[in-house]
Amino acid sequence: MQTHFTDFQLRDPHIADANQILRKCVHCGFCTATCPTYVLGGDELDSPRGRIYLIKNMLEKGEPATAETVKHVDRCLSCLACMSTCPSGVNYMHLVDQARVHIEQTYRRPWIDRLQRAVLAQVMPRPSLFRLALIAARLAKPLRPVFEALGAARFAALLGVVPSRLASPLAMGKPGTYPAATSTKGRVALLQGCVQSVLDPAINAATIRLLTRLGYEVVVTREACCGSIPHHMGREKDALERARAAIDQWQAADVEHIIITASGCGVTIKDYGHMLRLDPAYAEMAKAISAKTLDISEFLAALELPPAQKALRVAYHSACTLQHGQQLKTQPQKLLRNAGFEVMEVPEGHLCCGSAGTYNILQPNIAAQLRDRKVANILSVKPQIIATGNIGCINQLSGATEIPVLHMVELLDWAYGGPTPEKIANQL
Ligand code: SF4
Ligand code: SF4
Repeated sequence: MQTHFTDFQLRDPHIADANQILRKCVHCGFCTATCPTYVLGGDELDSPRGRIYLIKNMLEKGEPATAETVKHVDRCLSCLACMSTCPSGVNYMHLVDQARVHIEQTYRRPWIDRLQRAVLAQVMPRPSLFRLALIAARLAKPLRPVFEALGAARFAALLGVVPSRLASPLAMGKPGTYPAATSTKGRVALLQGCVQSVLDPAINAATIRLLTRLGYEVVVTREACCGSIPHHMGREKDALERARAAIDQWQAADVEHIIITASGCGVTIKDYGHMLRLDPAYAEMAKAISAKTLDISEFLAALELPPAQKALRVAYHSACTLQHGQQLKTQPQKLLRNAGFEVMEVPEGHLCCGSAGTYNILQPNIAAQLRDRKVANILSVKPQIIATGNIGCINQLSGATEIPVLHMVELLDWAYGGPTPEKIANQL
């Protein structure tokens, strides 16, 4: 794609990066076929190629974002299916991240949007505050139809994603060092995850049990948020501050790997090297931390676990941030099969479930269509349980099916000597 940035513009390293990315796009349109928003609506401007044009125009003009550009960029899920499909290696992730920063800095949203985004950006990364907000939201949940009738769709959507049961906090998973059960094979850090630690603390507890039984000392660090939530909202200053704090704590913990159980966080942490490339104090450390970061499925796959004997029929929903963002397309399924589970691949497995961080709150209509389509595809393989690797997907799917949705590490912990996960204990 031809670009027309001036020499002056290209002196800005962010623009220079965008220019490199844009020039790789050959307009072939292969990416449109796997883009969830294009598949649903068929609007070229809601396809990766269309968004790339809009972003190019916005950055070339160097002017405030227009309402039209904001509308179509906001509708992007950052699912990164387009990056899996693109034959030219266009780094859409870095381009859309930059577009969001430009939008955040130049576009004035309606006050209700600004308020909602500010609340989400302040509350979600803080587990204590997030928990209080969930308690309050659960009290307001019965009023959801009233908000729908009043046309307050986003507020109704927010209440819709509040789980009907709030998990109790668990002692296992709190910050601290968990010693290896037998001889120590290594020392790893585990990210708490701001949203995950509140919505589903059983995931980190299962991870710690499994890793310590396998001989690893696990350090759970205090900073819960990796910066992913503000990063995806274009709030770069906040995101980078959180990234620096996370890097500081992992440097101090002196670990071989950083293990991530929420694949959305994994994509961001693996990108710290890029996000902090212009910060002389952190650039090298950020690169090193990104290189040490592994999704739990990636870490376990390298350990070659022995076969186990669980025999449930599992539909595996591959989170976009795992299959497209980290290109981990087979490891979780292999681990589950090796543990004895009958793993069913879900039709249209490349399409997003509509969760996408705060997307199901900010874009409730598209998110609901994608969720319903995903659940229908999952039900078509008649599973007993659903497994995935990201808290956002777990929450999104749990709201639309009675079939238990678990993190795959909970199933592996169970298969290799841990307790039966509470979500399926009553079904067996
Ligand atoms: S597939 Fe890649 S090269 Fe083709 S239009 Fe999409 S982003 Fe551009
Ligand atoms: S990230 Fe997903 S929603 Fe956004 S343009 Fe790419 S495929 Fe479409």
